[in-house]
Amino acid sequence: MAFDYDLFVIGGGSGGVRSARLAASEGAKVALAEEYRMGGTCVIRGCVPKKLMVYASGYPTQIEDARSYGWDAQIGDFSWQTFRGKLHAELDRLEGIYKNILSSNGVEAFDARAEVVDAHTVKLSSGQTFTAKHILVAVGGRPFKPDMPGAEHAITSNEIFLLDELPKSILIVGGGFIACEFACILNGLGVDVTQFYRGEQILRGFDGEACDHIAGEMRENGVNLHVGTNIASMTKVDGGLEVEGTNGDTATYEHVMFATGRVPVTDGLGLENAGVELGRKGQVIVDEYSQTAVPSIYAVGDVTDRINLTPVAIREGVAFVETVFKGNPTPVDHELVASAVFTQPEFGTVGMTEEEAQNYGPVEIYATSFKPMQSSFAGRADKVMMKLIVAKDTRKVLGCHIVADHAGEMIQLAGIAVKMGATKEDFDRTCAVHPVMAEELVTMKSPVRET
Ligand code: NDP
Repeated sequence: MAFDYDLFVIGGGSGGVRSARLAASEGAKVALAEEYRMGGTCVIRGCVPKKLMVYASGYPTQIEDARSYGWDAQIGDFSWQTFRGKLHAELDRLEGIYKNILSSNGVEAFDARAEVVDAHTVKLSSGQTFTAKHILVAVGGRPFKPDMPGAEHAITSNEIFLLDELPKSILIVGGGFIACEFACILNGLGVDVTQFYRGEQILRGFDGEACDHIAGEMRENGVNLHVGTNIASMTKVDGGLEVEGTNGDTATYEHVMFATGRVPVTDGLGLENAGVELGRKGQVIVDEYSQTAVPSIYAVGDVTDRINLTPVAIREGVAFVETVFKGNPTPVDHELVASAVFTQPEFGTVGMTEEEAQNYGPVEIYATSFKPMQSSFAGRADKVMMKLIVAKDTRKVLGCHIVADHAGEMIQLAGIAVKMGATKEDFDRTCAVHPVMAEELVTMKSPVRET
């Protein structure tokens, strides 16, 4: 049977665009449909604008530090309008690059919503129908808002980049990546930030000691963080939303932002009718090759809810093209994926947490906490934390956790060593770079605990 395309990709985010480009460069006839803006969550309303806001929010501290270093520096007012204008111009530029990548590789792009009709057919919102030998679902996720009265007045991370004015106050609900990052960003930009997290400690699932350290620094920096707290009721009032917390406090916030997780956007996509299996959250169930229950339909990225990170979606796309278009079946490697949480201070992490190590076997914990030279000189109280989890039997470094400025940069490099299976002794025989914070990673002599 002759198909219109060898591959039809649904979704123009990181995973979809990379897969489309690579398949096309292998000579495949490829089309891609995107219903919103090319670039997806990462470029348009995620990693990229978030990181630019992280930079923007860091300047007050840097200027304060500059004064401590002898500069006659003054911090003026922050203009959200100036920043937002530049931010959106940058996002437009990046979207243009994504469009160019597709056209220069011969991928036919459709600005339309696509739905799956059957194993080899997609239907676009424009009314067109196409057949394809393979369909790749890469539609990503969207923020999830809990169902509660007043929730319709609350915003999510999607809207935060579009606000006309920076609010004077905000309540952020959630304790994950997005909640903690935006609590720090908005606090740095001068917004009065309150954060409610329903559990015991923010960043559940990460190394507990690192989370305690970050929570302490966030509070120290001015975030009004309440753990074990959720919204009891929320009412629209003049000037914002009046919220009663489960801790009994009532306050009015100009905005309430839910950062209560993300869900795959598979509703109405026609996948179940085509025979694709979906999980409880609506995620597409795939095997290690990203293949669904329908052999011609694959899925990559957040829609599969495996590890929801841009570089992972890209890797899944690369492995998909290797498997399907290069005749080289390649399972996706989800082991030891390093990541960074852009809180202030930043958190870089790879591998096992101390809590996970309890189920692993005997381990040694190496940890240190110290005042970094730069901020100590400036009179700031912040502390850096570094931690290694080491297997007693193999001596392998199973986990590395860093809370420090630029921890994201550090963990990328430490992640190579951990992925290679480096032992504590490999770390030890690596000569320190001096004077940098990361030298502590190779100079921790004795374990602080053994379990
Ligand atoms: P997460 O799943 O990380 O966190 C969701 C948070 O919301 C948790 O603290 C959860 O609490 C809480 N929550 C869930 N439901 C409710 C509810 N009904 N009421 C109150 N609280 C609730 O999601 P995020 O939205 O923060 O991030 C989504 C994903 O995006 C991340 O997992 C990550 O993969 C990715 N991401 C990565 C970033 C990076 O690499 N730097 C940055 C931003 C996002 P509980 O812990 O109790 O379940």
